[in-house]
Amino acid sequence: MPTKYQAAEELLENKIILITGAGDGIGAEAARTFARFGATCILLGKTVSKLEKVYDDIVEAGGQQPAIIPLDLKGATAKNYQDMAQTIIDQFGKLDGVLHNASMLGHLSAFSDIPETEWMDVMQINVNSAALMTQALIPALRKAQHASVVFTSSGVGKKGRAFWGTYAVSKFATEGMMQVLASEFENRGLRFNCINPGATRTKMRASAYPAEDPMTLKTPADLMPVYLYLMGDDSLNVNGQSIDCQPK
Ligand code: NDP
Repeated sequence: MPTKYQAAEELLENKIILITGAGDGIGAEAARTFARFGATCILLGKTVSKLEKVYDDIVEAGGQQPAIIPLDLKGATAKNYQDMAQTIIDQFGKLDGVLHNASMLGHLSAFSDIPETEWMDVMQINVNSAALMTQALIPALRKAQHASVVFTSSGVGKKGRAFWGTYAVSKFATEGMMQVLASEFENRGLRFNCINPGATRTKMRASAYPAEDPMTLKTPADLMPVYLYLMGDDSLNVNGQSIDCQPK
């Protein structure tokens, strides 16, 4: 990625982009940003009131009218994703981008103490849902000229760290899923990459580091050049990469 990347104003015009976890933190900022650069955003998330707030922000800022998909990834099934994909094709005819952003942190604890239910929930939300959703969305993505799928990784998905248990393992799986897909779709008009946001001022970060002063961290807005770069056509030849966002 070029240093000091500056996206053109019309970068995402006529693009349809689905963002998971679009109601809060990095996902909400990405949705508002993609809309500002011309995209029609499909806002997927768990808490409807948060999605509605992002919807209103986009409309008030003069962006394309978004769509809302209220969905708890914990309970969603392959059939839910297939129905969702069909609705996207019926309504928009194609899908140009997916930002897999929603995640659950779980509790940081010794590996031996991870409860079975928490292991299952974190894997379901962070890994299984992204896998099944991607499978279902591939036909819609193949209808776009140059579709981009971006997964969200983490530093602990590249080097394991004590007590980060299920979350870290789920992020290793995310990196692996991205690499498998990138290799499978090489030169077939569909690209897959990861972003590791690094320490960013959100609720998830605050729950992992309660004693930290959030004002020392970069904000979701600071990350947006990387998100725009991977979602827009300036990154057409970038596939199978995992990009680390710079520290503040
Ligand atoms: P937030 O906790 O601020 O936001 C997470 C989003 O995911 C929320 O919109 C939340 O919805 C949604 N979500 C969580 N569970 C579900 C579910 N079961 N179904 C649907 N949506 C769900 O986190 P961040 O913005 O910090 O994180 C965004 C991504 O960045 C994550 O993948 C995270 O792992 C990654 N990341 C973040 C870092 C950081 O420092 N912030 C560092 C490294 C990686 P709701 O609000 O409705 O619960």
